[in-house]
Amino acid sequence: MKKMQNALEFSHQLLSNHVNAGDTVIDGTVGNGHDTLFLAQLVGSRGTVYGFDIQERAIQQTQERLTAAPINHTHVHLFNRGHQEIASVLPPMAQVSGAIFNLGYLPGGNKQLITHAETTIQGLRGCISHLTVGGIIVIVVYYGHPGGQTEKNQVDNFCAALPQKQFAVLKYEFINQVHQPPFVLGIQKVS
Ligand code: SAM
Repeated sequence: MKKMQNALEFSHQLLSNHVNAGDTVIDGTVGNGHDTLFLAQLVGSRGTVYGFDIQERAIQQTQERLTAAPINHTHVHLFNRGHQEIASVLPPMAQVSGAIFNLGYLPGGNKQLITHAETTIQGLRGCISHLTVGGIIVIVVYYGHPGGQTEKNQVDNFCAALPQKQFAVLKYEFINQVHQPPFVLGIQKVS
Protein backbone atom coordinates (compact mmCIF):
# COMPACT_ATOMS: atom_id res chain seq x y z
CA MET A 1 0.00 0.00 0.00
CA LYS A 2 1.24 3.46 -0.82
CA LYS A 3 0.24 5.74 2.07
CA MET A 4 -1.14 9.21 1.48
CA GLN A 5 1.51 11.86 1.99
CA ASN A 6 1.85 13.31 5.48
CA ALA A 7 1.79 17.08 5.97
CA LEU A 8 5.52 17.56 5.57
CA GLU A 9 5.72 15.39 2.47
CA PHE A 10 2.76 17.19 0.95
CA SER A 11 4.29 20.61 1.71
CA HIS A 12 7.45 19.63 -0.17
CA GLN A 13 5.39 18.17 -3.01
CA LEU A 14 3.56 21.49 -3.43
CA LEU A 15 6.85 23.40 -3.52
CA SER A 16 8.34 20.94 -6.03
CA ASN A 17 5.31 21.43 -8.26
CA HIS A 18 5.61 25.23 -8.39
CA VAL A 19 9.28 26.14 -7.86
CA ASN A 20 11.91 25.83 -10.59
CA ALA A 21 15.70 25.79 -10.65
CA GLY A 22 17.04 29.34 -10.54
CA ASP A 23 14.08 30.70 -8.53
CA THR A 24 14.12 32.76 -5.33
CA VAL A 25 12.46 31.17 -2.28
CA ILE A 26 12.03 31.77 1.45
CA ASP A 27 12.21 29.54 4.50
CA GLY A 28 10.35 31.57 7.15
CA THR A 29 11.38 29.27 10.04
CA VAL A 30 14.65 27.44 9.33
CA GLY A 31 14.74 25.48 12.63
CA ASN A 32 16.96 22.44 12.14
CA GLY A 33 17.37 23.23 8.46
CA HIS A 34 15.51 20.34 6.81
CA ASP A 35 13.29 22.63 4.73
CA THR A 36 16.17 25.00 3.96
CA LEU A 37 18.24 22.15 2.56
CA PHE A 38 15.27 20.94 0.54
CA LEU A 39 14.77 24.45 -0.91
CA ALA A 40 18.49 24.87 -1.61
CA GLN A 41 18.43 21.67 -3.68
CA LEU A 42 15.17 22.61 -5.39
CA VAL A 43 16.38 26.00 -6.71
CA GLY A 44 20.00 24.89 -7.24
CA SER A 45 23.05 27.13 -7.22
CA ARG A 46 21.52 29.58 -9.75
CA GLY A 47 18.65 30.22 -7.34
CA THR A 48 18.47 32.08 -4.03
CA VAL A 49 17.19 30.96 -0.62
CA TYR A 50 16.47 33.41 2.19
CA GLY A 51 16.11 31.76 5.60
CA PHE A 52 14.91 33.29 8.86
CA ASP A 53 14.87 32.20 12.49
CA ILE A 54 14.83 34.07 15.80
CA GLN A 55 17.12 31.47 17.43
CA GLU A 56 20.87 31.61 16.90
CA ARG A 57 20.92 27.87 17.58
CA ALA A 58 18.59 27.23 14.63
CA ILE A 59 20.74 29.30 12.30
CA GLN A 60 23.83 27.34 13.41
CA GLN A 61 22.11 23.96 12.99
CA THR A 62 20.92 24.94 9.55
CA GLN A 63 24.37 26.19 8.54
CA GLU A 64 25.87 22.89 9.72
CA ARG A 65 23.28 20.86 7.80
CA LEU A 66 23.99 22.81 4.62
CA THR A 67 27.76 22.47 5.06
CA ALA A 68 27.47 18.69 5.59
CA ALA A 69 25.32 18.25 2.47
CA PRO A 70 26.99 17.52 -0.86
CA ILE A 71 25.78 20.76 -2.41
CA ASN A 72 27.06 24.25 -3.11
CA HIS A 73 25.15 26.43 -0.64
CA THR A 74 26.55 29.87 -1.30
CA HIS A 75 23.11 30.80 -2.63
CA VAL A 76 21.53 30.34 0.83
CA HIS A 77 21.33 33.49 2.97
CA LEU A 78 20.45 32.92 6.62
CA PHE A 79 19.20 35.69 8.91
CA ASN A 80 18.98 35.48 12.70
CA ARG A 81 15.88 37.65 12.49
CA GLY A 82 12.15 37.12 12.67
CA HIS A 83 10.13 36.43 9.52
CA GLN A 84 8.13 39.57 10.34
CA GLU A 85 11.18 41.37 8.89
CA ILE A 86 11.05 39.63 5.51
CA ALA A 87 9.78 42.73 3.74
CA SER A 88 12.70 44.83 5.01
CA VAL A 89 15.39 42.16 4.41
CA LEU A 90 14.54 41.13 0.84
CA PRO A 91 15.66 43.36 -2.02
CA PRO A 92 12.58 45.44 -2.96
CA MET A 93 12.38 43.93 -6.46
CA ALA A 94 12.86 40.29 -5.37
CA GLN A 95 10.39 37.89 -7.01
CA VAL A 96 9.63 34.86 -4.88
CA SER A 97 8.08 31.68 -6.32
CA GLY A 98 7.96 29.64 -3.12
CA ALA A 99 8.03 29.95 0.65
CA ILE A 100 7.58 27.63 3.60
CA PHE A 101 6.58 28.41 7.17
CA ASN A 102 6.87 25.44 9.49
CA LEU A 103 5.13 26.68 12.64
CA GLY A 104 5.59 25.76 16.30
CA TYR A 105 8.79 25.18 18.29
CA LEU A 106 12.26 24.00 17.38
CA PRO A 107 12.32 20.18 17.69
CA GLY A 108 14.88 19.34 20.36
CA GLY A 109 14.97 22.97 21.49
CA ASN A 110 13.14 25.30 23.88
CA LYS A 111 9.41 24.53 23.59
CA GLN A 112 8.55 27.99 24.92
CA LEU A 113 10.01 29.67 21.84
CA ILE A 114 7.11 29.21 19.45
CA THR A 115 5.82 31.05 16.43
CA HIS A 116 2.96 33.48 17.13
CA ALA A 117 0.01 34.50 14.97
CA GLU A 118 0.80 38.20 14.81
CA THR A 119 4.39 37.80 13.58
CA THR A 120 3.54 34.78 11.40
CA ILE A 121 0.87 36.81 9.61
CA GLN A 122 3.29 39.72 9.21
CA GLY A 123 5.75 37.27 7.65
CA LEU A 124 3.08 35.89 5.33
CA ARG A 125 2.17 39.41 4.23
CA GLY A 126 5.87 40.09 3.55
CA CYS A 127 6.07 36.97 1.36
CA ILE A 128 2.86 37.76 -0.44
CA SER A 129 4.19 41.19 -1.41
CA HIS A 130 7.08 39.45 -3.26
CA LEU A 131 5.15 36.47 -4.63
CA THR A 132 5.10 35.85 -8.39
CA VAL A 133 1.85 34.93 -10.13
CA GLY A 134 1.83 31.13 -9.86
CA GLY A 135 4.06 31.30 -6.79
CA ILE A 136 3.12 29.39 -3.66
CA ILE A 137 3.44 29.75 0.12
CA VAL A 138 3.06 26.62 2.21
CA ILE A 139 2.42 26.70 5.93
CA VAL A 140 2.80 23.56 8.01
CA VAL A 141 0.63 24.20 11.06
CA TYR A 142 1.60 22.35 14.24
CA TYR A 143 -0.84 23.28 16.98
CA GLY A 144 -0.72 20.60 19.71
CA HIS A 145 1.53 22.71 21.98
CA PRO A 146 0.43 25.48 24.39
CA GLY A 147 -0.31 28.58 22.30
CA GLY A 148 -0.60 26.56 19.11
CA GLN A 149 -4.38 26.60 18.92
CA THR A 150 -4.57 30.40 19.01
CA GLU A 151 -2.03 30.73 16.22
CA LYS A 152 -3.80 28.00 14.21
CA ASN A 153 -7.13 29.83 14.38
CA GLN A 154 -5.74 33.23 13.42
CA VAL A 155 -3.53 31.95 10.59
CA ASP A 156 -6.42 29.84 9.30
CA ASN A 157 -8.71 32.89 9.34
CA PHE A 158 -6.10 35.05 7.61
CA CYS A 159 -5.67 32.51 4.80
CA ALA A 160 -9.41 31.89 4.41
CA ALA A 161 -10.01 35.64 4.00
CA LEU A 162 -7.56 36.11 1.11
CA PRO A 163 -9.50 37.28 -1.96
CA GLN A 164 -10.34 34.42 -4.32
CA LYS A 165 -9.66 36.46 -7.47
CA GLN A 166 -6.02 36.86 -6.45
CA PHE A 167 -5.31 33.73 -4.44
CA ALA A 168 -6.17 30.04 -4.41
CA VAL A 169 -5.96 28.70 -0.86
CA LEU A 170 -6.09 25.05 0.19
CA LYS A 171 -6.01 23.03 3.37
CA TYR A 172 -4.61 19.47 3.53
CA GLU A 173 -5.53 17.73 6.76
CA PHE A 174 -6.06 14.27 8.19
CA ILE A 175 -9.32 14.56 10.12
CA ASN A 176 -9.67 11.21 11.92
CA GLN A 177 -6.48 11.10 13.96
CA VAL A 178 -6.59 10.99 17.76
CA HIS A 179 -3.76 13.47 18.29
CA GLN A 180 -3.41 16.83 16.57
CA PRO A 181 -1.34 16.09 13.48
CA PRO A 182 0.03 19.06 11.57
CA PHE A 183 -1.88 20.24 8.53
CA VAL A 184 -0.88 22.24 5.48
CA LEU A 185 -2.21 25.54 4.20
CA GLY A 186 -1.19 26.43 0.65
CA ILE A 187 -1.56 29.90 -0.84
CA GLN A 188 -1.05 30.35 -4.58
CA LYS A 189 -1.14 33.77 -6.21
CA VAL A 190 -3.32 33.34 -9.28
CA SER A 191 -3.52 36.88 -10.64
N1 SAM B 1 11.60 24.22 9.25
C1 SAM B 1 12.32 23.68 10.37
C2 SAM B 1 13.09 22.45 9.99
O1 SAM B 1 13.08 22.07 8.81
O2 SAM B 1 13.75 21.86 10.86
C3 SAM B 1 11.45 23.53 11.60
C4 SAM B 1 10.93 24.83 12.15
S1 SAM B 1 10.39 24.76 13.82
C5 SAM B 1 8.90 23.86 13.71
C6 SAM B 1 9.82 26.42 14.11
C7 SAM B 1 10.95 27.43 14.17
O3 SAM B 1 10.36 28.74 14.12
C8 SAM B 1 11.79 27.42 15.44
O4 SAM B 1 13.14 27.17 15.12
C9 SAM B 1 11.62 28.84 16.02
O5 SAM B 1 12.80 29.36 16.57
C10 SAM B 1 11.23 29.61 14.80
N2 SAM B 1 10.55 30.90 15.03
C11 SAM B 1 9.72 31.26 16.04
N3 SAM B 1 9.30 32.52 15.87
C12 SAM B 1 9.88 32.98 14.71
C13 SAM B 1 9.84 34.21 14.00
N4 SAM B 1 9.10 35.24 14.42
N5 SAM B 1 10.57 34.32 12.87
C14 SAM B 1 11.33 33.28 12.43
N6 SAM B 1 11.41 32.10 13.06
C15 SAM B 1 10.69 31.94 14.19
